[in-house]
Amino acid sequence: MNQELKQEEREVIKLVVFFKKKAETWSAETEIPQEFKQLMETCDKLVEQINIHAQSRELILSERELLKKLVKDNAQCPRCNKNENLKLIGTEKNEKDWQSNKYKCRKCNITFVWNAPNNPWDMIPYVESVVAEIEKKAEANDLDDATKQHFIESIAQMKSNLEKLKPVVENSAADIANLELRDKEMAEIVHKFKKHLMIEKIKLED
Ligand SMILES: [Zn+2]
Repeated sequence: MNQELKQEEREVIKLVVFFKKKAETWSAETEIPQEFKQLMETCDKLVEQINIHAQSRELILSERELLKKLVKDNAQCPRCNKNENLKLIGTEKNEKDWQSNKYKCRKCNITFVWNAPNNPWDMIPYVESVVAEIEKKAEANDLDDATKQHFIESIAQMKSNLEKLKPVVENSAADIANLELRDKEMAEIVHKFKKHLMIEKIKLED
């Protein structure tokens, strides 16, 4: 059985297994009633639906997990400017609600929260704010050409990264929204069918 099933999905599948076993004993003794055959067909369809839905749920959630790891914050110790002695010790949200990693530098024995976020959702507004800042700096009149060129290249690079990241994040959000909707629909179907099967079970046991 699929490990990713929800509680009520498992319960309904258990009930279906019960009816299947009943059908087997029946066919050995007598002809299976037509009504019962129909019930078994509905059961088969529902179990198939549950499994297909569970597979797509698993896929969407695992893609989201991958997306979480997509963004690397490239953190460095603010004192030694290196990353090799960093240990991730937690996360913290800033005043804008962007989540960043908190590190300890084992060499310098300090802890710090890295300014760039640790996830793609917060990374988008963060990079946008950095781009806006650099654009402001690049407009200054007293800049030499090399600095100005450097700013322009940085802005182009960041904008191109944003263009790649945005559709991935948007697609994932759409997938999750669809999944939540479908989860709700499935839960209703499963709940109703479970009730129905439980009533049928009581009838059989009478
Ligand atoms: Zn350090």
